[in-house]
Amino acid sequence: MSGLSRVDDHGVRFRSHVDGSAHTLTPENSMEIQAALGSDIAMVLDECPELPAEYARIESAVARTTAWARRCRESYCGPGVPFGIVQGGPWEDLRERSACELLELDFPGYAIGGVSVGEPVEAIARVAGLTAAMLPPEKPRYLMGVGRPEDLILGVEAGLDLFDCVMPTRNARNGTLFTSQGRINIKRSRFRGDPEPLDPDCRCETCRNYSRAYLRHLILSGEMLAARLNTIHNLAYYLGLMDKMRQVIEDGRFAAFRHEYMASPAAGRFGEEDR
Ligand SMILES: [Zn+2]
Repeated sequence: MSGLSRVDDHGVRFRSHVDGSAHTLTPENSMEIQAALGSDIAMVLDECPELPAEYARIESAVARTTAWARRCRESYCGPGVPFGIVQGGPWEDLRERSACELLELDFPGYAIGGVSVGEPVEAIARVAGLTAAMLPPEKPRYLMGVGRPEDLILGVEAGLDLFDCVMPTRNARNGTLFTSQGRINIKRSRFRGDPEPLDPDCRCETCRNYSRAYLRHLILSGEMLAARLNTIHNLAYYLGLMDKMRQVIEDGRFAAFRHEYMASPAAGRFGEEDR
């Protein structure tokens, strides 16, 4: 929404994309809002420029992010815990500076922001890995805005614990579903009359009770239930993947699991969802 917003040291002024009304978000009121919502994890207000951007632009965003993080940390009085957000774009020295400044504020957990904002996939993995190594392993480390199931696996390997992404829910609404046999688009005609569950290896509400043919019928009819059932499944898939990773780490089998998953049809690439 960069076209609708203005950022200065005070905060962010923006117009609602819904009704055009004017709003101001400051470090203080963003924490108040999250406290009122009862957020378990309250994220500081940060400045996250779109990439590619000039070094000087990212450097000033790091300075503002630290100043805002201090104001957020001091003003927060909600029921959850505040997390700092490391910025710095693709530059290692700026990531280092941002991480060091936030560590001085002693947050209960840290997030890596400013990735997945227009840069190539390899750049995301590189920045996430090097930034994770700058943050204390005994505190939660959270990679914001990522991603595909295979990105979660690479993230966990880099030492990350938390992720958030629109992918499971947005894809579900479009009919793209993650399964143990790969990514499928439930709208395809090959699923017409298919009585099998979406994913025979899944125990979610959707897979236990509905056929692929029925899910296809719902989405092609524009039924709201399609979005709900598909979302239930995709979220179950993502949560199952995180559970599985926790288990294989405890069993000392993470490397083997990673290798198996990456070689399996489940680790699809973009553009393969039409299988
Ligand atoms: Zn399912």
